[in-house]
Parts: sequence; structure tokens; C-alpha cells
Amino acid sequence: MTDTQHFVEIRHAQKAYGDLEVLKDISLNVERGQIVAIIGPSGSGKSTLLRAINDLDALTSGEIWLDGVQVNKTLPHRQYEKHINQMRQQIGMVFQHFNLFPHLNVRDNVTMAPKLLKGISKAEADTLAEEQLAHVGMLERIDFYPSQLSGGQKQRVAIARALAMKPKLMLFDEATSALDPELVEEVNLVMKKLAEEDMTMIIVTHEMDFAASVCDRVLFMDQGVVVEEGPPEKIFRNPDKDRTREFLRKHL
Ligand code: ADP
Ligand code: MG
Repeated sequence: MTDTQHFVEIRHAQKAYGDLEVLKDISLNVERGQIVAIIGPSGSGKSTLLRAINDLDALTSGEIWLDGVQVNKTLPHRQYEKHINQMRQQIGMVFQHFNLFPHLNVRDNVTMAPKLLKGISKAEADTLAEEQLAHVGMLERIDFYPSQLSGGQKQRVAIARALAMKPKLMLFDEATSALDPELVEEVNLVMKKLAEEDMTMIIVTHEMDFAASVCDRVLFMDQGVVVEEGPPEKIFRNPDKDRTREFLRKHL
């Protein structure tokens, strides 16, 4: 039983490392199918917030809810492990550095988690991998190893791998910022396609044009707080806060 009304709810998230307060009472709701961009200077807490959503970085206090279930529940160890594994299966995450398994080919990178965690057969997992790789335009590289792929291709495989778990929510943490400029677009196109398919996504990015073109809302974070948020046309063209304006002056 829950009083949750929003698909994702972050309630009074606080995170400290010793004396350093990295997240200072952040509350945020995301509706099903919404695409939210988080922008802000380096060190403002964007990655910490994203990683708190699947409890990779445990909050000091506050709650994370996904689709009516509290993610960061306090439970006895064994129960917590079971609970968090179930939650993490529903949350796909793509990082800056494509962490594909180098010793596995593309197919096995994509099928590993579904086989292991969902107990599906090899044949089913292979079909799933083919579907997801086709979706990101990487089917023809299914037998390649990560070392044989470009950065953009690796990142597309990383997205297919996350999608193979059929997540409810996708989190992207600067998914294109380690890529050579000419490889950014192919990854952005995949993210745009997901957006059009109504995937719920939270995207940390410093690509303002991309954020403006795909996101429903933009949050500007600085020093552990959400300074302001709104639709992209508001935040990018006419922000209320000086801090936002100053950040955008340097980054637009
Ligand atoms: P962003 O993603 O916006 O660049 P981060 O969330 O990575 O910011 O970091 C926010 C702040 O938290 C930074 O000051 C960073 O140095 C600090 N921080 C992050 N992880 C740790 C950690 N494990 N221990 C101590 N400080 C950390
Ligand atoms: Mg970061």
C-alpha cells in the first residue's frame, strides 16, 4: 500500500560524504513516459542523484520510489539484496564509459543479464538480443567483441543491453561525453527513438541542444540543489535564476 502518485518520486534526498553535503534535500517527481534532463556544473551532484535512484549510492536520508515501490527500503541484508536486485532489473543505466564485458561478444554482453536474472533460455535470450540490437542498429555486429567496435557502437550495445532487461526507467549519465564528436549523433538518435517510444528517461547531459530537442523538462543543479526546473524553452531561453543564466552563458 502506498500513497505514491508519481512514477518516480525522489523525496527529500540528502547525501553527505563526511562533512560534504552532495545532495541537499532534493525532491523530484517524474511521470511515466517523461524525459527529464539534468544539467549543471561538474561536482554539482548529478551522478550521485542518478546513482541514488537505484541505490548504487545510498542516500543519507530520503526516499526513492519507482512505480509505487520504495527502492531504498530498509530491510534485513538478505531481503534487501533480493529487493534491490528486483528493483535494479527495472532500471536500466548507461554510463559515460561503456562498461561492456571485454571478453564477451556483443550477443553475450546483451544476453548475460536476462539469462542470469530472468532465467530465460538461451534461445529466448538470443531472440531478445537480436531484437534489441536491431533496435539500436547493431544487429550486424552481434558476433563482434567490444574491442572491435567504435565508442558510439559500444554505447549503442550498452543501451541494447540495458533494454534487454525491459526496464521501466532508463538512466543516462553523460552517455555521449566520452565519445568523439562525430560519434555522438548515432547515440543521440537511439535515445531520441526511445523517447518517441515513451520510455521514461532521466538524462544527465551537457549537450544543451540535445536536451532541448528531446526532453520534456530540464533541471538545473548546482551545489547539491535543484536551482530551477521547467520546460526546455523556459530554462534555456528565459531562466528565472541568475545561477542558471550564468551556467548557460558558458554552455550554450
Ligand atoms: P557531478 O556528476 O554533477 O559532476 P557528482 O555527483 O559526481 O557530481 O559529485 C558531487 C560531489 O560529490 C563532488 O564534490 C564529488 O567530489 C563528491 N563525491 C562523489 N563521490 C564521492 C565519494 N565516493 N566520496 C567523497 N566524495 C564524493
Ligand atoms: Mg557526473
